[in-house]
Amino acid sequence: MSHISGVKKLTHSSSLTSAALPRFGVKTEQEDALARELNDLNKWGLNIFHVAEYSNSRPLSCIMFAIFQERDLLKTFRIPVDTFITYVMTLEDHYHANVAYHNSLHAADVTQSTHVLLSTPALDAVFTDLEILAALFAAAIHDVDHPGVSNQFLINTNSELALMYNDESVLENHHLAVGFKLLHEENCDIFQNLTKRQRQSLRKLVIDMVLATDMSKHMSLLADLKTMVETKKVTSSGVLMLDHYNDRIQVLRNMVHCADLSNPTKPLAVYRQWTERIMEEFFRQGDKERERGMEISPMCDKHTASVEKSQVGFIDYIVHPLWETWGDLVHPDAQEILDTLEDNRDWYQSTIPQSPSPPPDAPHNELESKFQFELTLEGETGQDGDPSHNHIDSHGQEAKREDEEADEWVPPPLTLYPGVLPVQDGHVPF
Ligand code: AMP
Ligand code: MG
Ligand code: ZN
Repeated sequence: MSHISGVKKLTHSSSLTSAALPRFGVKTEQEDALARELNDLNKWGLNIFHVAEYSNSRPLSCIMFAIFQERDLLKTFRIPVDTFITYVMTLEDHYHANVAYHNSLHAADVTQSTHVLLSTPALDAVFTDLEILAALFAAAIHDVDHPGVSNQFLINTNSELALMYNDESVLENHHLAVGFKLLHEENCDIFQNLTKRQRQSLRKLVIDMVLATDMSKHMSLLADLKTMVETKKVTSSGVLMLDHYNDRIQVLRNMVHCADLSNPTKPLAVYRQWTERIMEEFFRQGDKERERGMEISPMCDKHTASVEKSQVGFIDYIVHPLWETWGDLVHPDAQEILDTLEDNRDWYQSTIPQSPSPPPDAPHNELESKFQFELTLEGETGQDGDPSHNHIDSHGQEAKREDEEADEWVPPPLTLYPGVLPVQDGHVPF
């Protein structure tokens, strides 16, 4: 318990002199192809898989270097370039290349997605340089040293990590500990020239954002975001007014959470690759659970899971409600992203094989029962967990139920989705 597990001794600095610094921070024989891909650095459509291919499998180091240069953050915070490269390479090495989804490619993806969201017109000049630095750093470290299994698995198997963090946001606490600890490695302190106060604020911001990536916090995050949308104020040029720290950090934690849940909003070819990866990781966890005689987690049983239904459910219950609310906050900036999300949802829906004659009483489909839970919020009725009651029509509008009041938001059913807590003792856990 006296040290943070997973921190390895590595040396990257010896080969790094400013004179010998590669154009994109990483050694590669495909610099031209990489340059072409990085033309899309500021776009939602950047293909991070190509970046990985052309950067010698260093997507995180490469994308961090490109983003920090683009935003001039090395100059603003007087980060020595060799220290920066040493840190990001060390960070990248602490992601597990043999974990199918939660490896450095996912971290690179979330970092680049956060970079794009930070530039959304509705948030123009809202955030300080320090807040921007914190958001990008949080995204880069947010899954470091991920073992490829969920918090629940770590808790159920009495792992060292669960013991260390008393079962509370086990992975997210660990990602933070490792991300910060690596700053202590040789020539790794990228924050060495920040003032004490800047370091303190940055640390507070980063801890907040990474802890908010715990899926068990999703529903309360979304509820708070809904409230913010209802009370939002904008300037005459349409920029959000976020004068208080609490409002700004709330937007930032939702932004990183949106970036973390952005696979289904990406071009279909990219999204499908993410789906393959996450299902591979889930199935490996399911295999481990089966071997140990444990109950197999939802979506993790390779013998029964439906990949397509899982994605439709993930979108209907988790991703669409979140992104739709984000879209309301930054209206109309996220319209294209929402259109892609809805097209992708329909594509996955259309690939679900139709069973010829389901028994009359059987649940609509396997996923629906998985995602469903019997809960009536106190004082509210009508949450029956049927996504068709909250369906998105072909124009991207949410079709309101007749008995639903227009201005009243009712949370979607909490799910048995891995990480999103089901009901505890009949109460919503927030
Ligand atoms: P993180 O583990 O930090 O990446 O948190 C995001 C969580 O959302 C993941 O652990 C998955 O449980 C879930 N998730 C993200 N993308 C997908 C996807 N494409 N399909 C299913 N679940 C996903
Ligand atoms: Mg995570
Ligand atoms: Zn993640």
